[in-house]
Amino acid sequence: MDAAFLLYQETILPKLQLLIEFTLIYYKELKSKALPLPFFSKEPLNIFVFYTLFLIILFKIVFPLLKWCFSLSFGSVKRSFIRFLTQCIPSVKRKLLESRQKTEKEVFSELSKHDTNQTYKLPKNGMKLSTLNDRMSFWLKRDEVAINTGKISGAKYSNDPDYERNLKEFIKDFFFHNPLHFDIYAGARQMEAELLSMTGILLGCEKDHVYGSTTSGGTESNMMAIYTYRQWGLEVKNITKPEIIVPETAHASFYKAAHFYNVKVITLPTKPRSGTIEISALRRAISKNTVCIVGSVPNYPHGNCDPIEEMAKVALKYNVGLHVDACLGGFLTIFAQENQIKIPKFDFKVPGVTSISIDHHKYGLANKGISSIFYNSKELRHYQYFSTSSWPGGIYATPCAPGSRSGAPIAGAWFAMVYNGYNGYKENAKKIFETTRKFREKIESIKELKVIGDPKICVVAFASNNKNLNIYALHEILLQKGWNLGALNYPACIHITITLANEKSLNDLVKEIQNAIEVIKNDPTKNKVGIMGTIYGTTKKVPDTQTADEFMKVVLDASLKI
Ligand SMILES: *Cc1c(COP(=O)(O)O)cnc(C)c1O
Repeated sequence: MDAAFLLYQETILPKLQLLIEFTLIYYKELKSKALPLPFFSKEPLNIFVFYTLFLIILFKIVFPLLKWCFSLSFGSVKRSFIRFLTQCIPSVKRKLLESRQKTEKEVFSELSKHDTNQTYKLPKNGMKLSTLNDRMSFWLKRDEVAINTGKISGAKYSNDPDYERNLKEFIKDFFFHNPLHFDIYAGARQMEAELLSMTGILLGCEKDHVYGSTTSGGTESNMMAIYTYRQWGLEVKNITKPEIIVPETAHASFYKAAHFYNVKVITLPTKPRSGTIEISALRRAISKNTVCIVGSVPNYPHGNCDPIEEMAKVALKYNVGLHVDACLGGFLTIFAQENQIKIPKFDFKVPGVTSISIDHHKYGLANKGISSIFYNSKELRHYQYFSTSSWPGGIYATPCAPGSRSGAPIAGAWFAMVYNGYNGYKENAKKIFETTRKFREKIESIKELKVIGDPKICVVAFASNNKNLNIYALHEILLQKGWNLGALNYPACIHITITLANEKSLNDLVKEIQNAIEVIKNDPTKNKVGIMGTIYGTTKKVPDTQTADEFMKVVLDASLKI
């Protein structure tokens, strides 16, 4: 699987070196031969022709070329250059193709190793219900073994089979309901509106002043926010080249939004001690094109909370939006104050906070496929809407990205909220806060490891504190022990998102970590990394996302294949 990554080092780099060497040799030759240069005599005509030509070249060729070069980012020049090399040198091209085919095969056989009874073509006659039921129970049983280990970071947020069964029972008849037709599906409409009101009030909105919409997940919520600020910036401030400012720890969905909606991302570095940004750097990053700032409570990689109150002051001062990404931990951080957890205030009561996203399908304990996004004014929410009346299909209007939607995720989130109630969520939050604190303290007591920032909510990330301990090697030993944690980059670290589904196994995890460190200490050959470490290590050494992007294309292709 690492073939695609090694290719860069194996084939492209040596070719680059050759190219440079050739250029140097040629340059030396040229110098030693002392070629006579034209227009070197001092005749007036020659001088005139020389300067005219010189000026033409300068203004028509050199300056435009320089301007073009500066308009390109370093990355895009490098990308074009690598594309040029890989397309124009036949041996590189062939090797790249071979390596990609090999990688594709390997990835596909890994991903499809559990596949049984593949159906790649529509069966001529419908399958019997009994066959379908057999398939279903086989898939569910097999996958549940992998899911219900209690050893997975995030991914599964509730841990009560009875609760899940009741929720499924409640939502099953709403699957065919479609809130696009809110006049027909009145139940889904009411549940959606109630869901928004209940959640908005938890986030500091006043009754009747809740301006939100549900979405299919945190990614869509964040994308809708960025789209909304882009439209707001265009209409209110006439910004045609919108920029958003995000801490480097902000979720990938902001880059996705920027990619989809043609917005530029300005990234701010974070400080190791607090795990968050410096406000002075934020101020410096604001430009006339800024449409919004993003902060997270907490962020996905390291679980730290950004200084929302201070960021809000900056947002107010420069009249830009401040989006708070509470997707991951919103249903926990709402209860931080009551549980004496000290984090910055982040809700709509903070002047300057203009939108908040929160995921019901994480700690909101709903089924997958439901999140919501809120704005501080009706006007701002209007920028998210789309409607057309000039379509032959009639009037079409939607608050968020999809057209038709299922009523079931809405019903599930509604059920989750009213079933758990304020106190149910508060109890869950308390449990997660406490488990996080205890786990963090235990990791801090291991001298070979260091915790990143000051995590208090639900994620703890730790890096190696010892040059003889490769954190990815540790990650791999944990994988072999059945622990599916996240391996992260920039900096190299491991993280765990603590949920109701894994909190009981964390003492075991600490023991496994201590054992793994001992194993590596006693046998340095164990400090080597396999594929995961190679991917992270290589992408770090070659600061070229194209190789990684190519690789991910192969992986996505394989995931969509039968
Ligand atoms: C999970 C997450 C998201 C995106 O959520 P999806 O539901 O996976 O689309 C956004 N922000 C943060 C901080 C998250 O943890």
